[in-house]
Amino acid sequence: MEIIPGVHSIPVGSSPFMGFFAPNVYLVVDSEGALIDSGYGDEESVGSRLDYVNSFAELRLAYILITHAHPDHLGGARRIKESTGAHIVLHPAETRAADVSADKLVEEGDVLTLDGASLEVLHTPGHSPGHVCFLLKEKRILFSGDHVLGMGTTAMSPPQGDMAQYIDSLRKLLDYDIEMICPGHGPPITAPRQKLEELIQHRLDREQQVLNGLRRGKTTVKELVAAIYPELDSRLHQAAQGQVLAHLIKLEREGKARPRESAGYTIN
Ligand SMILES: [Zn+2]
Repeated sequence: MEIIPGVHSIPVGSSPFMGFFAPNVYLVVDSEGALIDSGYGDEESVGSRLDYVNSFAELRLAYILITHAHPDHLGGARRIKESTGAHIVLHPAETRAADVSADKLVEEGDVLTLDGASLEVLHTPGHSPGHVCFLLKEKRILFSGDHVLGMGTTAMSPPQGDMAQYIDSLRKLLDYDIEMICPGHGPPITAPRQKLEELIQHRLDREQQVLNGLRRGKTTVKELVAAIYPELDSRLHQAAQGQVLAHLIKLEREGKARPRESAGYTIN
């Protein structure tokens, strides 16, 4: 499916991973091509994506650009590389979590070129230490992986997840002139600045709720989760605990909260 000229989103048919959490894989087509993320590694996901890439008869796939080394973004990389010869590109901080070796390591500010198109690497730690976004400069499109989602909230699971870095990485994107965000999950975001500001505000509001909970004598992550998310579906408890713990670690670093001797945290 072509989102705008030269930028495609490659869907997977009746994959078991369809639905809310289905990962998006994008293809930038110029004289050469680049995939952004590679989806899961199962037969159907990889097969659909390869069929899509191969439907461009003349296209040479140069890169598989990985935003971060989680299985829904990296899983298909090895097999797509074997089939196309494309180079897998990763940030060095993600290589330990990856089950494939990178052909090229990239850091903040590096630019990958496809003749007419250039993709700038923006290091956006928070969801994971070596998370990167790729900015397609000519079209001002940001491929945001799990840093900014088209719907829902980015998971923050310490020690991999770091709330302070995450908020800083959201603020950093405000400095860029971005026309559209193509996220790792969910639909494209056509009002990037508004979305980024909302996400930052949402995290700051949550942080305030954590502080309020501590003030009211809630000390453990579980008590804070129960206070902040009273109606939460039990399947989401673990995710919510990660978010709250990530806030507590940030507050501790800032001197606003500290661990109690027995268990949990208290206000400073
Ligand atoms: Zn992820």
